[in-house]
Amino acid sequence: TLKDKTAIITGSNSGIGLGIAHELARAGADIVLNSFTDSDEDHKLAEAMAKEHGVTVRYIKADMSKGAECRALIETAGRCDILVNNAGIQHVAPIEDFPVEKWDAIIAINLSSAFHTTAAALPMMRKAAWGRVINIASAHGLTASPYKSAYIAAKHGIVGFSKTTALETAQEHITCNAICPGYVLTPLVEAQIPDTMKKYNMGREEVIKKVMLDRQPSKEFATVQQLGGTAVFLCSDAAAQITGTTISVDGGWTAL
Ligand code: NAD
Repeated sequence: TLKDKTAIITGSNSGIGLGIAHELARAGADIVLNSFTDSDEDHKLAEAMAKEHGVTVRYIKADMSKGAECRALIETAGRCDILVNNAGIQHVAPIEDFPVEKWDAIIAINLSSAFHTTAAALPMMRKAAWGRVINIASAHGLTASPYKSAYIAAKHGIVGFSKTTALETAQEHITCNAICPGYVLTPLVEAQIPDTMKKYNMGREEVIKKVMLDRQPSKEFATVQQLGGTAVFLCSDAAAQITGTTISVDGGWTAL
């Protein structure tokens, strides 16, 4: 059980981050949810999660594209036993047309934010003599596709950063690993299905298997619950010697 542990999950008002937060809460951890917005829905999400799992859930606004706000998120939380660096964005364009501001934003949110939050969280983990850093990379942290240069550079970068974090904390009961999801069924992905069905004149199942999951041999999406379960496992005693590595949750993508 993760009772009395505090987990901070960046970018967790939707999708994978929210799914991981739910599973960590189910395992007993107190939760800090985060995004760059500060809406009623954000705070209601925290309230509902607290009620559902009987843990403390706070929502703290911080923009992960800004280093100072990343550090402030951890300081404001005041305690961090489990840090999940999940916030991420995507942009697709050939290298010569790739907008510079998109490149900078992707490197800042998908990579540099993890540097800032980790730097702020490690002293707290050292004080508690226990810690877990879980970075959400991607199958694109291990393989590439065309037109996703910034995302792939950032995701390969966070895999490397995870290894260095693991080495610097190896004797302190702190572990750091990267989870590499394949295609995950999030609300964002679900929303793309109707348009893709129209574009290819295909049914839902055909679009999922032939177009979206072209590179995912299982022909099934991973779910946010499965990613949450993977995070809970990395927080368990069974995973205490798992550090500086990647765990793929990708239906066989990286075996191809
Ligand atoms: P999503 O868009 O549902 O979630 C992204 C989260 O990040 C949201 O909560 C959003 O509010 C937050 N966010 C974005 N910009 C932010 C900022 N500047 N500051 C703070 N928060 C910010 O997408 P998702 O699919 O759940 O993605 C979560 C992570 O998983 C990302 O790092 C993504 O690269 C990775 N991933 C997703 C898939 C997939 O198939 N969905 C596959 C592999 C990896």
